[in-house]
Amino acid sequence: MKYELVVGLEVHCQLNTVSKAFCGCSAQFGKHANTNVCPVCLALPGALPVLNRRVVEDAVKLGLATGCSIASHSVLARKNYFYPDLPKGYQISQFEEPICSEGNLHIDVGEGRKDIRLIRIHIEEDAGKSIHDIGEETYIDLNRSGVPLLEIVSYPDIRTSKEASAYLQKLRQIVKYLGISDGNMEEGSLRCDANVSLRPEGATEYGTRTEIKNMNSFKNVEKAIEYEAERHREILDNGGVIIQETRLWDADKGETRSMRGKEFAHDYRYFPDPDLVPVLVDQEMIERVRHELPEFPEVRALRFAEEYAIPVYDAGVLTVEREVADYFEETVRISGDAKASSNWVMGEVMRTLKEKYLDIVEFSILPERLGGLVRLIGEGAISNTIAKQVFEIMMSEQATAAEIVEREGLAQVSDTGAIETVVQEILDANPGQLAAYRGGKTKLLGFFVGQCMSRMKGKANPQMVNELLLKRLDG
Ligand code: ZN
Ligand code: MN
Repeated sequence: MKYELVVGLEVHCQLNTVSKAFCGCSAQFGKHANTNVCPVCLALPGALPVLNRRVVEDAVKLGLATGCSIASHSVLARKNYFYPDLPKGYQISQFEEPICSEGNLHIDVGEGRKDIRLIRIHIEEDAGKSIHDIGEETYIDLNRSGVPLLEIVSYPDIRTSKEASAYLQKLRQIVKYLGISDGNMEEGSLRCDANVSLRPEGATEYGTRTEIKNMNSFKNVEKAIEYEAERHREILDNGGVIIQETRLWDADKGETRSMRGKEFAHDYRYFPDPDLVPVLVDQEMIERVRHELPEFPEVRALRFAEEYAIPVYDAGVLTVEREVADYFEETVRISGDAKASSNWVMGEVMRTLKEKYLDIVEFSILPERLGGLVRLIGEGAISNTIAKQVFEIMMSEQATAAEIVEREGLAQVSDTGAIETVVQEILDANPGQLAAYRGGKTKLLGFFVGQCMSRMKGKANPQMVNELLLKRLDG
């Protein structure tokens, strides 16, 4: 039978606030175990939580960015369950009244744009971490306990594994543009659970779903969904039934395995947290946050294409990440040449970042210096080939392009006399090619240009070399 794949995603996004969601502890990652803790996040008796205002603002930001309605009144609830890394015995979350609801996210898929609707975005706190890989014991680190999360729940609008990863990438791009999270999947700042089911093609009712956890990269999300869909297909084709359960993705084995029977909302005995007042968001706050929203990728790409007269494709590449787009704009401001700047950012800069596994914010050549380099090319002071050499040198020191060109004697030679001398030397040294050229093999021009350029260590003005050569060859 032919089936249709149906996927809904629940994504937990860790916010990059300075302090935790309900206490003043640092939310910083990577500190010595159990040092970012206090009575509140350790759940000591009598300690009372206070909601971090930044968390509310970040939720409103993401809500506005995804077209959600923002609730003027929402409620923090206790989600009760037992786990060793959850010292209170409940997680503070939102249940019946989330802060954001009914939004959507556009993704770009093969056939164009598709809207994935969002059910809700709610505020919650993270649990601590159990550590199983030191000797025989299990250890608990509560530094993460109480770190703020936003949970983003989609409708089951996703139909392929590719759409699932496109959705995640889009969400990641948005939280990074908003500056509310680093969006790093491998480090767990973005954690994705997928609800997967199949239904016969044309059916309107959903099939029984399973929930997959523990997919920590875009590729793993795709693989896990494909594996799970195949597993369902086999069971259904053999007349079996799908058991609703939670399954763990094992990236090494490339398979999912049963983790626990599916829990239902009523199992958690949700109720409003009596320690916390309702979250009130007034129109003034919404307008203030709306005002602070950044220019989003699609809008920025359109502006780049228009304002800088660069191809739409280039504008798209340059705006995938906010920091890259900022870097590009600053480079253009200094260099005054948008097309050349875009070529450099998309070429040498991105290639280097990829090779060295760097983020652009870690890159040692700041836009001021790259802009200076691009300007030198535009002014004819150096050729593109020499510029690449200068770029290499710039990576290992902080000097400007102009300083390096000066110090290394790399300035382009535009001196007619000097170039003419070399042209004559090259023609004298290659009588055979010269005769062939004059006999009609004009393609040999490239050969002569190459010889001259290499004799002059790439520093000759290529345009002048061309002109002077043609004069001699044809004359
Ligand atoms: Zn604390
Ligand atoms: Mn959750």
